Amino acid sequence: MSPIELLTLPFMQRAFLAAFVTGLAAPAVGTYLVQRRVSLMGDGIGHVAITGVAIGLVTSSSPTWTAVAAAIVGAVLIETLRERGQTGADVALALLFYGGLAGGLFVAGLDGESTAKMDQYLFGSITTISEADVLTTMVLAAGVLAVCIGLAPQLFAVAQDPEFAIVAGLRVRSYNLVVAVLTAVSVTVAMRTVGLLLVSALMIVPVATAQQVTRSFRSTMVAAMGLGALAALGGLLFAALASYRADFAPGATIVLVSLAGFALAWPVGAWLRRRQRLREPFPTGGVPGHEPTREHPHVHGPGCGHLAVPHDDHVDYVHDGHRHAPHGEHYDEH
Ligand SMILES: [Zn+2]
Ligand SMILES: [Zn+2]
Ligand SMILES: [Zn+2]
Ligand SMILES: [Zn+2]
Repeated sequence: MSPIELLTLPFMQRAFLAAFVTGLAAPAVGTYLVQRRVSLMGDGIGHVAITGVAIGLVTSSSPTWTAVAAAIVGAVLIETLRERGQTGADVALALLFYGGLAGGLFVAGLDGESTAKMDQYLFGSITTISEADVLTTMVLAAGVLAVCIGLAPQLFAVAQDPEFAIVAGLRVRSYNLVVAVLTAVSVTVAMRTVGLLLVSALMIVPVATAQQVTRSFRSTMVAAMGLGALAALGGLLFAALASYRADFAPGATIVLVSLAGFALAWPVGAWLRRRQRLREPFPTGGVPGHEPTREHPHVHGPGCGHLAVPHDDHVDYVHDGHRHAPHGEHYDEH
């Protein structure tokens, strides 16, 4: 079957649409998780969502919405535990993850049929996605993207440098919760596409790939979204084209395609980093906290739309993931 013929099948059209929006939304959230060094948070929330799915299946209500609810409860719990910090939280998180998976399998076991249906959610089942599921997926993904992009300056400031963000008067706790809830929603969005056990890969791998070749936060996010969408469509296409001779789960092929992207980008990133080191063998700027930026097309000033942070004798602007202050003809990085 040719790719064109595939696209004429309604169930494949639905699958491609769902894969596309999932591929865009998951890495957008993943960018913040990578920045905050909590790459496995999506995985943890995915495990908690399993219990939500099981409750939905056993009670014959929509597993998507019970999963969203469980994932949000899990996300808030994880965030609260993380705030406590240190080793205790680490163990508490592990208990929550195992509890989510075991609880889900236990609840599903209450009703024999549900155990069989669990597979769809654990490993994805994008080709059986209904029209209503596609609509739900698109609405949730659009919401995730709107918040990710709309709150980008604040969310990034908080992810990058929480202490600075507190000084700047940002409500760090609320923004961390926003990211946790975004993670929960995108986990459930990606659930049908790649499955709860592989959800985290679609959130993190495209970001890791983008980071090989991009330097600013914004370009990383945009590139990761592009790579995520490409991997989702490519993996689905691969699974569909191969389906006459093999039975590949699209979730697995999507994750493998994005890992292949990383394998290709890694040498390029290594080469770029080496070139950068040769050009600047020593850190420029001298005094820490006073590092002039070279080109900067944007002129910051009152009301320029960026977060302004007065401190000491000057005002810093949060812009594209870093904060800097106008200083004569150039900008000083912090
Ligand atoms: Zn500005
Ligand atoms: Zn400053
Ligand atoms: Zn700037
Ligand atoms: Zn300066």
